[in-house]
Amino acid sequence: MGIFKQNIIMINIVLFGKPGAGKGTQAEFLKIKYNLIHISTGDLFRNNITEKTKLGILAKSYMDKGNLVPDQVTIDMLEAEVDKNPQAKGFIFDGFPRTESQAKSLDAFLIRKDIKINFMLALEADDNELVKRLLNRGKSSGRIDDQDETKIRNRFKEYNKKTSPLKTYYKNQNKFYSINGIGTIDQITGRLTKLIDSL
Ligand code: AMP
Repeated sequence: MGIFKQNIIMINIVLFGKPGAGKGTQAEFLKIKYNLIHISTGDLFRNNITEKTKLGILAKSYMDKGNLVPDQVTIDMLEAEVDKNPQAKGFIFDGFPRTESQAKSLDAFLIRKDIKINFMLALEADDNELVKRLLNRGKSSGRIDDQDETKIRNRFKEYNKKTSPLKTYYKNQNKFYSINGIGTIDQITGRLTKLIDSL
């Protein structure tokens, strides 16, 4: 438990990976084990859609096609969510940042609070496995963006073009760690916690 033994008060993790990589599933375990607040921008948008807010209506027009929602509304929403949790011991950012502009905004925002991202944990799995997982999830969740392979592949395209370069962004800060995202949920949780405890 290196990072905790050193008495670092906050731990902030970026959970990274393509749609279907298991970010949300794993965040549920990690937030309990390390007492963190889980912020999923996808979930926040979906809540706004359910509540039919202005932000939800705007976000839906992008999400239904598998496109990214514009940076500034996403950044504003994320910052508001962090500000709602002033007592947090740390955050798991799930699905954010997804562009270099979001990553830079997040760094600047955290610096103003005198905190920082400790590491980015990237769950890796190949596209065909992810398509299978997402189509399955689409059947149970009813998520429109999970039900159509063309939309799923468009999300991968968005990821490859805009999100994947963030690996280099965090590698340059020595914060990037890759985790094999293929296996049972328990196996992958085990890999993540072993890694976090060694950092
Ligand atoms: P997710 O639940 O993380 O798979 O996100 C579902 C959809 O929400 C994405 O395909 C985007 O349309 C939108 N979204 C979530 N997070 C972001 C983000 N950080 N930037 C832009 N769009 C996002």
